[in-house]
Amino acid sequence: MDNANLVVVTGAGGFIGGNLISNLRTQGYKRIRAVDFKPLEEWYQRFDDVENLSLDLNLRENCAAVSKDAYEVYNLAANMGGMGFIERNKALCMLSVLINTHMLQAAVKYGVKRFFYSSSACVYNATKQKAFEAPSLKEADAYPALAEDGYGWEKLFSERMCRHFREDFGLYTRVARFHNVYGPWGTWYGGREKAPAAICRKVIEAKLSGKHEIDIWGPGNQTRSFMFIDDCIKGIHLIMNSEVLEPINLGSNEAVTINHLVDIVEEIAGIKLVRRYDLSAPKGVNGRNSDNTLIKKYLNWEPATTLRVGLEKTYRWIYDQYVARERGAAGVIRESAAAR
Ligand code: NAD
Repeated sequence: MDNANLVVVTGAGGFIGGNLISNLRTQGYKRIRAVDFKPLEEWYQRFDDVENLSLDLNLRENCAAVSKDAYEVYNLAANMGGMGFIERNKALCMLSVLINTHMLQAAVKYGVKRFFYSSSACVYNATKQKAFEAPSLKEADAYPALAEDGYGWEKLFSERMCRHFREDFGLYTRVARFHNVYGPWGTWYGGREKAPAAICRKVIEAKLSGKHEIDIWGPGNQTRSFMFIDDCIKGIHLIMNSEVLEPINLGSNEAVTINHLVDIVEEIAGIKLVRRYDLSAPKGVNGRNSDNTLIKKYLNWEPATTLRVGLEKTYRWIYDQYVARERGAAGVIRESAAAR
C-alpha cells in the first residue's frame, strides 16, 4: 500500500490502537485518521501529526464520516477490559456490535480496500477451557459455539459478519483472535486492566508502601498466555497483508499460571510477597493457551517475545506512571504521549 493512502484506526485512544498508530507513523504513513469516543485529553497516546477525532462509533453516521476516503480500516474500538470488567458488563460488551456493524456497512459504502477486525480468544468454546493445564486452542475450537458470555459472543458474531461481508459484498476482511495483550501504554488501573498490568501495579504498590502482601484473583493456578504489544502490532500487519481469510490466532504460546506470572514480577521488582487468594473474584476460564500451528504455517512467524522480557518493559513503564501519579502528575500518560 502507498504510504499516502488514508488509514483509519478506531479505538485509537486505547492501548492497541495507540501503539498501532505510533507504529504506522514510524513506517512513514502520512495520512492517519485516529478515532475514539473518549475525549482527546484522555487518549493514552495522541499524536499531533495525525487527524484525531473524538466520535461515538456506535452511531452509524459517525462510522460513515470516518470511513469516507479510507483505503484501510483497522477496527479496534470495543467496550472491553479484563475479567472484572467483561463479567460485570455483558450488555455493554455486546453493544460493540453496533460499532462493528456500522463500520462494516460504511466500509462497503465507501469502497474501503482492506478491513481489519480484532477478535479475541474469548470466542473459544468454554468447555474446552476447563482444564488448568492450559489447553492450546486451535482456530476450529470456536465451534460448536459456547463463547465467553457477552463479550465473546459479540466477537464471534462480528467475526462471522466480517466473513459474510467478504463473501457477499466482496469486502477484503482479515480477522485476528488476540490472546491477552500487554505492554506499555495499556490500561493499568481503574478496573479495566488485565492480569499482567494489574499484577505489576499491585507489586509496585506493595514495594513502595512496604506492605508486602498481594491479592490474587482466583486460586492462582489458572493458566494463560500473554502476548507483548510489539508482537501484536507485527502480527496485525502480517495478517492484514496475508491471504488468510479465516480468523486466526494471534497470541503467545508460552502458557503460565497466574502464580508464575506473580513470581516473574516479584523477581523483576526484587521482592517476595505474601499471597492472598480471592476466590470470589472473577477469574475467567481455568486454562487457555494459543495454538500457533496455523500462524506458523501461513505466515512463517509467531509472537516470540518472552514473558520475562515483555514484563520487564511493562513493569518499568507502569512503575514510572505510578510514581508520577503518586506525585500528583495525573494524566502523565497523555502528556508524555502528546509531547513525543
Ligand atoms: P482499549 O479499551 O484500550 O481500547 C479500545 C478503545 O475503544 C477505547 O479507547 C475505547 O474508548 C474505544 N471505544 C469503545 N467504544 C467506542 C465507541 N462507541 N466509539 C469509539 N470508540 C470506542 O482496548 P485494547 O486492549 O486496545 O483493545 C483493542 C481491541 O482488541 C478491542 O477490539 C479488543 O476487544 C481487542 N482485544 C484486546 C485484547 C487485549 O488483551 N488487550 C485481547 C483480545 C481482543
